[in-house]
Amino acid sequence: MNIAENTVVVMHYAVHSGDTTLDSTYDKQPLTVLIGHQQLLPGLEQALIGQQQGATLQVEVPPEQGYGERHDTLVQIVPMEMFAGMQVQPGMQFRATTDDGEQSVIVLDVDEEGVTVDGNHPLAGHILTFDVEILAVRAANEDEMAHGHAHPADEHS
Ligand code: ZN
Repeated sequence: MNIAENTVVVMHYAVHSGDTTLDSTYDKQPLTVLIGHQQLLPGLEQALIGQQQGATLQVEVPPEQGYGERHDTLVQIVPMEMFAGMQVQPGMQFRATTDDGEQSVIVLDVDEEGVTVDGNHPLAGHILTFDVEILAVRAANEDEMAHGHAHPADEHS
C-alpha cells in the first residue's frame, strides 16, 4: 500500500540539523502517525506520499517546510513584573499569551532593562534532515479518522 492521505504509517526516523542529531526513534518505539492531518512537518509528509513499506529515505526539510524562518520581531524585551516574582534565568521556557494566541517563549537574557524573550521555535530557520525507514503502511480506521490521529496497536487514546 502506498502512503497517502488517511493512511497510518509506522516509521523510524532520526532528525538532524547539521551534525547534531535532534531526535531519533531508532533506539525506541517507532512513530505511528496518521497522514494528512498536520501531524508531521509539511516537508516531511510530502516526501512520504507514495512511499511503501520497507522504503528508506533521506529527506531535507527547509525552514519554510519545517518550523518556519526566524523572525527578529519575535524577540522582545518584557518587563520583569510580568514574571510575578519568579527567578527568571536565561534558557527558561514559558507559555505566553500573545496577540497571536498561545506561544512558547524562551528567555535569552535578563538585565535591568527587563527580560529578553524569543518567541521563535527553537528549530526555526534550521534546515532539518530526516532519515526515515517505513515499517508499515495501512489504511486508517474510522476512529482514527474521526480523532485526527493514529491509534498505535494495543492503545486507544
Ligand atoms: Zn484517538
